[in-house]
Amino acid sequence: MVDIIGHLGMGLIWLAIVSWLAYDGKTALGFVALGAPFSLLPDIDLWLSKAFQTVNHHGVVHTIVFVAAASIVIGAILAKWVVPRFDGDYLVPPAGSSYVYAIGAVFVGGLSHLFADMLSAPDIAPQVEPFWPFVETKIVTVDVFYYNDPVVNWGLFLSGLALAGVIWWQADDDDSAVAA
Ligand SMILES: [Zn+2]
Repeated sequence: MVDIIGHLGMGLIWLAIVSWLAYDGKTALGFVALGAPFSLLPDIDLWLSKAFQTVNHHGVVHTIVFVAAASIVIGAILAKWVVPRFDGDYLVPPAGSSYVYAIGAVFVGGLSHLFADMLSAPDIAPQVEPFWPFVETKIVTVDVFYYNDPVVNWGLFLSGLALAGVIWWQADDDDSAVAA
C-alpha cells in the first residue's frame, strides 16, 4: 500500500487489536493514537534515499530490525516527554509501564507498515525484505494487492477507523461507568 491511507488503515487495525488485548478504556485508545502516525515510519526512506545514496527505498529501513531499534528510541522519547503530559486523560498506562506502552505502540505501528508492504510489493516498488539480516531471501513477499488499488486502500482505512471507533466507544463507555 504505497497509499498513505492504506498504511494508516493497516496501522489502525493492528493497533486496535493489540490495544484491545493489552489495555482498557482510554489507555487502549491512547495506544492507538500514539502508534498510528508510525504506521508511516518506514517510508522515511523515500526522503532518506534522496539525501544519502546508500539508503534505498524498501531497504534496511523496511526491516523488523530497523523498526525495533527506531521504536526503542522514539518510544523512550514519547514515554519520557509525551505520555506524562497526557496522564489522566488519554494516555494512562498502568504505573511503571509507560516505556512498554510507548515503545509497543511505535513498534506495532511500524510492523503493520512492513506487513502492508509485504502484501503489496513489488508492483511498482522493490520487494521488501522484512526479516533481513536473518533471512535474506525475498520469499516472504506475498503479492496479493495492487499498490494503488483504491478498494484495498479505502477498505483498509475504513476497517481501521471502524476498529478504532470500537476502542473509542469502549473508552467512552468506561467513563460513563465511572460516572454512574
Ligand atoms: Zn513502505
